[in-house]
Amino acid sequence: MDKNLKILPLIPLRGITIFPYMVIHFDVGREKSILALEEAMLVDQKIFLVSQKEAKVEEPEEEDIYTMGTICNIKQILKLPGDTVRVLVEGESRGRLEKYIEKSPFFKAEVEILEDDECDKTNKCEALVRSVRKAFDDYTKLSGSIPVETIVTLEELDNPGRLSDVISSYLMLKQENKQELLEAYDVEERLQKLLDILSNEVDILKLERKIGVKVKNKIDKVQKEYYLREQLKAIQEELGEEDEDKKEITRYKNRITKAKLPKLVKEKALYELDRLKNSGSYSAEGGVIRTYLDWILDLPWNAETKDNLDIKSARMVLEKEHYGLEDVKDRIIEYLAVKKMSNSLRGPILCLVGPPGVGKTSIARSIAHALNRNFVRMSLGGVRDEAEIRGHRKTYIGAIPGRIVYGMKQAKSKNPLFLLDEIDKMSNDFKGDPADALLEVLDAEQNSTFRDHYLELEFDLSKVLFITTANSLETIPRPLLDRMEVIEVSGYTSEEKFHIAKDHLLPKKLKEHEVKDNKIKISDSSLYFVIENYTRESGVRSLERKISSLIRKSIAEMIEKDKDKIIVNTNKVKSYLGPELFTYEKTDKEDKIGVVMGMAWTGYGGDTLPVEVTAMSGTGKLELTGQLGDVMKESARAGYSYVRANAKKYGIDEEFYKNKDIHIHVPEGAVPKDGPSAGVTMITAIISALSGKKVRHNVAMTGEITLTGRVLAIGGLKEKSLAAYRAGIDTVIIPKENEKDLSKIPKTIKSKLSFILADNIDTVLEQALVKID
Ligand code: ADP
Repeated sequence: MDKNLKILPLIPLRGITIFPYMVIHFDVGREKSILALEEAMLVDQKIFLVSQKEAKVEEPEEEDIYTMGTICNIKQILKLPGDTVRVLVEGESRGRLEKYIEKSPFFKAEVEILEDDECDKTNKCEALVRSVRKAFDDYTKLSGSIPVETIVTLEELDNPGRLSDVISSYLMLKQENKQELLEAYDVEERLQKLLDILSNEVDILKLERKIGVKVKNKIDKVQKEYYLREQLKAIQEELGEEDEDKKEITRYKNRITKAKLPKLVKEKALYELDRLKNSGSYSAEGGVIRTYLDWILDLPWNAETKDNLDIKSARMVLEKEHYGLEDVKDRIIEYLAVKKMSNSLRGPILCLVGPPGVGKTSIARSIAHALNRNFVRMSLGGVRDEAEIRGHRKTYIGAIPGRIVYGMKQAKSKNPLFLLDEIDKMSNDFKGDPADALLEVLDAEQNSTFRDHYLELEFDLSKVLFITTANSLETIPRPLLDRMEVIEVSGYTSEEKFHIAKDHLLPKKLKEHEVKDNKIKISDSSLYFVIENYTRESGVRSLERKISSLIRKSIAEMIEKDKDKIIVNTNKVKSYLGPELFTYEKTDKEDKIGVVMGMAWTGYGGDTLPVEVTAMSGTGKLELTGQLGDVMKESARAGYSYVRANAKKYGIDEEFYKNKDIHIHVPEGAVPKDGPSAGVTMITAIISALSGKKVRHNVAMTGEITLTGRVLAIGGLKEKSLAAYRAGIDTVIIPKENEKDLSKIPKTIKSKLSFILADNIDTVLEQALVKID
């Protein structure tokens, strides 16, 4: 086959390779090249462009120039300042140099024009095309340097040879690679080469990116910090300052030396400090160590306050700050006396038990005050997990010490008064029983070496005076209860509340609101009025709130109406606090059949508890409705059995259990009541209903009963008596066994109530039932 030959001026190219279809401009400076260009312009604007093997060579010879090049069409020539010319060309086809015709004054050569063969659409070719497209796609995504329009035009190209040339022209490749692609005249071979090169490039790009991201992130963060720190160091050095890291270490070191730590603690602290030095202060580890060191250094390992053992002055403080609460005060004084004698405060832990608002917390605070000890309070309500008492191990992220150590830090001395509030509200779950941990805390034998999981050091708790509080004893774990001495703080009578209000709450609140010079006066009768009609509680918490409210309203009125004095009387109370909230349910004024007033004791204080029984013809059913807990249901059944067994004695039809239905009802009250002290009440009501004898309306009773009719002791006598008194009762029947508790009943109550002691149900019935003439 004849070669398609053509004689053309030739320009050797430095550093670029031109592919067919490629449009490109380049600058021409060498004289030889400019002459070649001019020649081309004179003939048909066609020129043969071939790359030099070495771009550096200024005057290339034959052997310095490749033989495969591109025949191009010159599109534009632009003269630039100096002797340079800018040429815009478009590749037409490959050309192979046959021989040089002239070498001077410019290169002229005979060139074989190599048009692409129409590629056979073989499967292989097609597969190659697809692979090339895919690889190019990856390449563009990774390199990000190829405009989107290009990719779109490529999609429309279906000539494989042309496709590969166009793609080749876009790639950023080494000169040899480009030349290799240009020399591949056979289309399949060209595609294969292109695919190899592309895949290789894609791999490199991927790797680059991977390294790039990693390195970049690392470099960004590390370098930034590094440079900033180095800068800081440099600045500090310039200023003659020590660098921050060193300063911090020195600071800790000073603190450790000054802190007078026990030997082991000091060793541990120094060990951690060493670790801090090595960990780099900005690492996460550094943060953990610093927190730990702060904890160690903030704990009162050795700081101690000096106890005030002057019993007289302690008594004075207690008396001054609290009204009543004689039991607690006496117990504290005993405590001090023992301590003074033996110089040891070991002994059972005090547990103050009583309804909310009776002053358990505030008396504990007073005790601390009287003893001259620091005071800390920690509520145990809702604590379920042992770690809350004893801390989390340091290996936990964000670990902190337990509440005991936390409290000790707040206490700032190793011998504070530590109040553990709501010890009855603790519970346990699968993470261990907090009560066990607490046992160790409270146990004088063990607590000198209390170990917190976080601290990993022993802390001496033996000088701490622990006092606990609870609303009721029932839910306190038994082993804990055994270690404590229970002091009951029962509710207050209206008189007591009045004194507390007048002598303590009112002055305290006036001071808090900064009211001076008797500008606000609350009369005694209005205090009573508030106690009776706006509060219904064993303690004085809501009374305290009402007093605050009265004071605030008075201040508002003084300012609004420009008054400089306000006297609060009962009318003012009504206008400030609104209509009365409670009016005590007074007892019926007449005696009734089957209705008996019982007395109950709840976590919130005492209350009265009417029990109603009716008997009607039926088949011997016993029905129980209303507010009856399980214990009271048992009492009702036991009472029923007792009456059945003793029917004759009380003149009741012995067959009643066959032909009478009995219905026992306890009306709903605000507070659910349950407890083992309604036995006598049930029996009395049943007998009254069955015998038709009336029950005296002014009598209330409490007591549990055995099946033989014996009356058993009850708890909360004071609370119950207060409730009966409030309800307008004048006679209360109580178990004989409770006689000893009468001494705890306030005189005012005792003078208004007559107490009847019963050891048998017969005594109860005799006193409660109205005799039928
Ligand atoms: P508790 O701990 O029993 O729930 P608090 O100690 O919180 O009760 O007492 C509530 C408020 O009543 C406090 O302001 C307290 O000072 C006051 N208070 C309670 N009892 C007395 C009392 N006997 N004498 C003086 N103030 C009291």
